[in-house]
Amino acid sequence: MEYDVDNIFAKILRKEVPCIKVYEDDHALAFDDINPQAPIHVLVIPKGAYVSMEDFTASASDMEIVTFFRAVGKTARQIGLSTAGYRILANTGDNGMQEVQHLHVHILGGRKMGPMVSI
Ligand code: 5GP
Repeated sequence: MEYDVDNIFAKILRKEVPCIKVYEDDHALAFDDINPQAPIHVLVIPKGAYVSMEDFTASASDMEIVTFFRAVGKTARQIGLSTAGYRILANTGDNGMQEVQHLHVHILGGRKMGPMVSI
């Protein structure tokens, strides 16, 4: 799938759409999910134009991949989830039910998350 420069997260990166920012570095941005599924629900996105985890792990540089995953961990620590724990997930493609076509990792915390997959 080709990257759509008008997806909502691209607009957030360009500051055309506001977000509640929780972490930012040169390569990644983390912000509150607009429709939280847990007391804490943060999305972490790379600044590069990658559709999905599939696209990212196939096409991004080692540096981009390393810095992105470090940003996920830094974000979780910064929002205070290290001790209690949290869940990360990245819905990918059609069966993964990915809605926004810019790679994002969900960080969910603040309560026990329940079964890993619901159907
Ligand atoms: P997906 O299903 O693609 O893994 O998750 C997309 C997520 O993006 C959803 O949890 C949804 O609530 C969130 N989202 C969609 N539009 C916006 C928006 O404009 N701002 C923010 N902060 N989150 C959004």
